[in-house]
Amino acid sequence: MRKQNVTKRALKIYHAYNPKYFPLSFLQIVFQSISPYFNLWMSSEIITALYEGREKRELYVLVIITLLGNFLLQGFEAALGRGVRTASEVLANNEAAAFYRKTLSLDYDKIENPEIRQLRRRIEENSWINSHGVICMRDNVEAVLRWSINIIFSVVLFAEMFSRITKVPFHWLSLGLFAAIIAFSVFTVIFQCRSGKGISDVWSTVSDLMLRENRISAGHNVYGMDNRIYRQQGILSQLWEKMGKEHLKAFSEVNKKCFFLTMPQVATSRLSQMCTYLIICFYCTLGAFPVGSVIKYIGYLGKMTQSIGNLFFVINNLRNNERFLETYLEFFDIKNDMYQGSLAVEKRSDKKFDIEFRNVTFRYAGSEEDALKNVSLSLKVGERLAVVGKNGSGKTTFIKLLCRLYDPSEGEIRMNDFNIRKYDYRQYLDIFSVVFQDYNLLAVPLGNNVASGAVWDGEKAERVLDEVGFGKRYEEMPKGLETPLYKNFDEDGVNISGGEAQKIALARALYRDAPFIILDEPTAALDPVAEAEIYARFNEIVGDKTAIYISHRLSSCRFCDKIAVFDKGRIVQVGTHEELLADEKGVYSELWHAQAQYYT
Ligand code: ADP
Repeated sequence: MRKQNVTKRALKIYHAYNPKYFPLSFLQIVFQSISPYFNLWMSSEIITALYEGREKRELYVLVIITLLGNFLLQGFEAALGRGVRTASEVLANNEAAAFYRKTLSLDYDKIENPEIRQLRRRIEENSWINSHGVICMRDNVEAVLRWSINIIFSVVLFAEMFSRITKVPFHWLSLGLFAAIIAFSVFTVIFQCRSGKGISDVWSTVSDLMLRENRISAGHNVYGMDNRIYRQQGILSQLWEKMGKEHLKAFSEVNKKCFFLTMPQVATSRLSQMCTYLIICFYCTLGAFPVGSVIKYIGYLGKMTQSIGNLFFVINNLRNNERFLETYLEFFDIKNDMYQGSLAVEKRSDKKFDIEFRNVTFRYAGSEEDALKNVSLSLKVGERLAVVGKNGSGKTTFIKLLCRLYDPSEGEIRMNDFNIRKYDYRQYLDIFSVVFQDYNLLAVPLGNNVASGAVWDGEKAERVLDEVGFGKRYEEMPKGLETPLYKNFDEDGVNISGGEAQKIALARALYRDAPFIILDEPTAALDPVAEAEIYARFNEIVGDKTAIYISHRLSSCRFCDKIAVFDKGRIVQVGTHEELLADEKGVYSELWHAQAQYYT
């Protein structure tokens, strides 16, 4: 994308988050900008009237006009201010919501992609730590509007002074002063642009340091128990001290650069101001305008040079912000490419969905090795399959592929004789109830969590909660299924333990009542009694569903019809517990005996 289009495109997107905001803000800026010019004008009229010794009535009229004008301008500005603040809240909320919605809408393979994660993190850091990216669009665009309006006002009003000057005879002194004003003003603007660009660039380099600091502080948990046990306070303090020194060094460098960048601009601006005073007073003595106008014209000229300088500064900020906007747009431009399929998934009362993995190989994006290699396996309706293997052997990846969170790199997965890619994606997902190892409960009422929806069937929800052993805890819940989980959004929310959360995740899977139930280490967080309870009722819980069960506890896999043993991404053994154990050199036997020694 061409650079100049980045800001334009981002602005268009940002404006769409609340189309009311910028028009309202523009009006407010107009009223805010009129106010000082109006006051300069009226002050000069009042001083002239006093100087010329006009009638008191005339003076009172001028004062009343000034007060009334201010009252009206500030009234409009305040009324608009309310609207602008509300519109700004809506804008910020919609902007944040759009970012989360985009994340939620992405295919899972994009979410796990390390580059996309990094991109998302960069956007968050840019906006939350350094206020770069779309978050600073509002201030910058407003500043462009403000300073442009000010320049227009001051130029128009300053022109009025020239029309008066031309009416008095030419004087050589004025030529010299005008030349000096123009020269100093040009230098002021040049220095202002240079310093504006310089300062903006310097701050933009410092933002990288601030990101690093944030990563260091966010990456070290000061609440950690192990910090205390291993006395890590010393290491962490040293890290902070080192960071503090780097911070100080970078910022004193910034201060030094900013000082030298602004000095020439300050000097020329003061010289230009001095010449302006001289020429305006000079023409006043020649009778080009009354004495009160001196204030007005000096004020206008001051505003003009200030506004031009500020405008250049903001334009430079906008330019420096382009690289952050590019990151933002890059994230929003990510397209989902998961094939959505169109074949309807049959609604079968007999739940007859047979699955077959045919020579499936899979590699994660950015990874150098296959996570699954040439995996072939079939699963018939109603079967119970246990998946075992060491850490990193590919068990979870196998489940992710079955649920089409990823598509195989090679080979295919078929269901009832069709490649699963052909099925309508949403309908296909609906045939699975899964409890992942890193399941995620939401900070909403228990009922919404169990039903995974806005409404729930109370009787069914209570039944599944009871089935997974949550019944007793449920009775203590103050508002039953209406009880919010966690306290993120609601003070009345209840905090739950890891074991309780896992039970709720299990209940959610049962509530869905899908033909397949997949449990990835479903009892890891449960105490031995709760775990034994779940196993004792496993057949009752699973019912006539096809079940896949991943566990490190091999004793809990014995009740499965078939056990698939994964090793380094391959299925190295398939069979019943007894069949697998018979192969004494097999991986299963190795795993079994490693655990069995603690039980026998
Ligand atoms: P298991 O469930 O048996 O512990 P996994 O299926 O989680 O194993 O992982 C299989 C292999 O794939 C491991 O080498 C793991 O490091 C790698 N892996 C898992 N998830 C990702 C990912 N999102 N990106 C890259 N590699 C991954």
